[in-house]
Amino acid sequence: MRKIAIIGGGLAGFHAAFSLQQAGDYEVTVYTNRTAEQLRNGRMLSMAAPFRWVLERESSLGINFWEDVDARAEGFDMHIKDPGGSGKDLFRLTGRFPDGLYALGVDYRLKFSTWMDEWERRGGKLVVRDIAVTDLEEIAAASDLTLVVTGRGPLSQIFDKDEERSTHHLPPLPSAAIFLVGPRVASHQPWDDVPFSPLRFDILPGVGDVFSWPFYTAAGVCRGFAFQSTVPGGPFDAGRDRKTAAAYLEFAREATEKLIPDNAFLYEDAVIPDEGAWLYGPTEPMVRCPVKQLDNGAWVWGMGDAAMIQDPYAGQSGNNAVRMTDRYVRHILERGDAAYDPDWMQSVWDEHWDQYGQFAFRFCTLLQDAPNKALMSIQMAATRDPAIAQAFVGWFGYPPSAWPYIEDEQAAKRFIADHATPAPAMGAAV
Ligand SMILES: Cc1cc2nc3c(=O)[nH]c(=O)nc-3n(C[C@H](O)[C@H](O)[C@H](O)COP(=O)(O)OP(=O)(O)OC[C@H]3O[C@@H](n4cnc5c(N)ncnc54)[C@H](O)[C@@H]3O)c2cc1C
Repeated sequence: MRKIAIIGGGLAGFHAAFSLQQAGDYEVTVYTNRTAEQLRNGRMLSMAAPFRWVLERESSLGINFWEDVDARAEGFDMHIKDPGGSGKDLFRLTGRFPDGLYALGVDYRLKFSTWMDEWERRGGKLVVRDIAVTDLEEIAAASDLTLVVTGRGPLSQIFDKDEERSTHHLPPLPSAAIFLVGPRVASHQPWDDVPFSPLRFDILPGVGDVFSWPFYTAAGVCRGFAFQSTVPGGPFDAGRDRKTAAAYLEFAREATEKLIPDNAFLYEDAVIPDEGAWLYGPTEPMVRCPVKQLDNGAWVWGMGDAAMIQDPYAGQSGNNAVRMTDRYVRHILERGDAAYDPDWMQSVWDEHWDQYGQFAFRFCTLLQDAPNKALMSIQMAATRDPAIAQAFVGWFGYPPSAWPYIEDEQAAKRFIADHATPAPAMGAAV
């Protein structure tokens, strides 16, 4: 049996572990740095709203324990606010996802602790230890393959930055997030004028953005609010001074009342489900070189956020991490008894980059930067025509589908024409 070590029991690490276990012939050990108990009772470190493709992978592995919870996000409701600070919308783009697409966020503390228990219940080997580089050398020397899937943790920094592929040029932006429960925040349709459960996005030029979406936590359905500041120390960068969830909630409530008054009603009866239900930290988007030889000569392979990290802005990092994992696992299975050598690791990583990763990365960069003419024309058309809005929001489920339209003006014109609501026929009743 081939020995595979997985360092990091998070989203991508457990997708890989359960997939390899399901395939059979592998002795897989997951190393992670917190017990299930510590995870359940601890602080949030990250979060995500995976799209349907990821959730269907989880169902096929028998680890989607939250299939039936009423916390799906069914589309986008984006508001670009007046830069003058009046709180009014400059533009608004509302679109239900096409083709049955949806996203469903489960509190990682609940998700990963449940997966840890399930992994052990299925006979998987789990070691709870914070792995340092010296431990990694030992583990890699004793394993046929070692996957480093430590997310934003410091161990991921063993992989050098790939300067050529890291085309994101904005400085690292501080983000903070909080979960809130209450009758309004947890309702399926909190806004009367949006006829579905939306991912709500408020963009405040020169300040930052807030996105919120339904989540399932140990306390039931709640709403997660992520604040991102485009100005360090600006009105949305309050996370560094707030030391408790209650203090952060106070900031979120005040900032919302002042800058996004149409969301203030959500906070009227909202409470924090527990003291750990918030996070703060900057994200530095980058692509790394995920094939690395350690000092003792052993090779390790980075996966998920350890290989490539994106800004939370476009909600793509976790989705990309699982697409990458799926590809790595398929190649591991196809590899049979052949050696897991560095050329093979590099070719699998390059394949992911060429076919998916580069699109996910550029998608986020293009949306976050001042939009180019092609993207701007599509977004403006989408503010006027719900059919175009629906086609546009569908890109979030599979970013490669945004090409060539997102960068090419002629292609953008075609996209608009192809997706526009047909004009009523002459003489037809309106
Ligand atoms: C505010 C915010 C909002 C986000 N929103 C979205 C979204 O909407 N959609 C989306 O797709 N993505 C989103 N993301 C990103 C998403 O959460 C990550 O991309 C995803 O979790 C990456 O999976 P991973 O397995 O690589 O890392 P993680 O899921 O972070 O797992 C890493 C694991 O490794 C463990 N670990 C770390 N260091 C060590 C060590 N030294 N030894 C042992 N174990 C270790 C950690 O405890 C953790 O369990 C968001 C992130 C943030 C911060």
